[in-house]
Amino acid sequence: MDPLNEGDLFILKNASAEALGLFYFGRQNRGIGYKVSDDLEVKLTQSYFTALMEQAHKERESLYRASHTNAFRIYNGEGDGLGGFTVDNYNGHLLIQWYSKGIYRYQQEVLTALKAVFNYETIYEKLRFDREVPTHLLTDKPAEFPLIIQENNLFYTIHFEEGPMTGIFLDQRDVRNKILALPLEEGTMLNLFAYSGGFSVAAAKNGMSTTSVDIAKRSLELIEQNFGLNELPLDDHFRYTLDVFDMFKYCSRKKLSYDLIVIDPPSFSRSKKRRFSVKSNYHELIEGAVPLVKANGYLLLSTNASDYSLNAFKKMIETTLKEQRRDFEFVEVMGLPKDFKTTNSYKASKYLKVVLIKFLD
Ligand code: SAH
Repeated sequence: MDPLNEGDLFILKNASAEALGLFYFGRQNRGIGYKVSDDLEVKLTQSYFTALMEQAHKERESLYRASHTNAFRIYNGEGDGLGGFTVDNYNGHLLIQWYSKGIYRYQQEVLTALKAVFNYETIYEKLRFDREVPTHLLTDKPAEFPLIIQENNLFYTIHFEEGPMTGIFLDQRDVRNKILALPLEEGTMLNLFAYSGGFSVAAAKNGMSTTSVDIAKRSLELIEQNFGLNELPLDDHFRYTLDVFDMFKYCSRKKLSYDLIVIDPPSFSRSKKRRFSVKSNYHELIEGAVPLVKANGYLLLSTNASDYSLNAFKKMIETTLKEQRRDFEFVEVMGLPKDFKTTNSYKASKYLKVVLIKFLD
């Protein structure tokens, strides 16, 4: 049995019995809790959580004022002072995600603080520490799903009640903006692991013809909804329910090639045929994609694996591309947008790494 209960505070000491700070106990996929403070006297009271939310609100003022974007993260766990939970704003509908039972012990305090500090229509929560990922409404009247959010003048449909994903990955906002601005009007784009087609919508708005590939059938409907919402006719935008490795074979058989290929896999994936992990197999995705990139085309490579450093990721990309014998340059390295605030004292908080490559032949 654990000597501590979920949510209990404790002081961690090093081998010389010096205090390293005050922590709370909460088992989750990454570790067993978070640091609360260097101050050993801090209590997780109502006023503690209200001050935490006020500070988070203050730091995102420019996003609240933005007229073209109404969905973003309003509280980002350890980056905003206390890890274990996050809060997102989807056009006035707030979604809290709890990552341990320990932090969930403070649900009432967090909810009261949110209600006091933020404008909202509804508040929902997802229990990410529970395998079933239950979703609950915490205010009186439910929202009408799908919600529609706006991001940089693009629109996306949002669902809260289907597992851990909501219809968009808010952390990829800067990357969608980048795709929107690439000098590839009239070009072609292949979006692997497309999910709801967030990157495809951005490419299509930029004038590209897009091809979206996802192994999940559900993806087709989500992509069609998002294209419809943005008044993009589907004639020039293709959708496939396929394993990406089968798509590689299909493309080489049909001699298809693209000006931009986006690769954004989950950290782990298991299909009937194979098991995939970003850390051991990412290079196979690059090897499959490189022959399909047109002369002077782009590869956009993304990973959210928190245990894969940017340096290791870049090194793997460089080694793999060199073996492919094509001339290339690194154009840009991107990461989390600023509302996904991170902290230098916890490297894993900077989990998103996105590298844009341009071929020179
Ligand atoms: N790039 C997306 C998010 C991807 S989420 C975005 O920015 O919105 C990961 C997606 O990969 C899921 O939709 C999942 O169904 C899909 N997926 C997992 N394994 C796959 C495989 N082997 N081939 C194709 N798609 C896969």
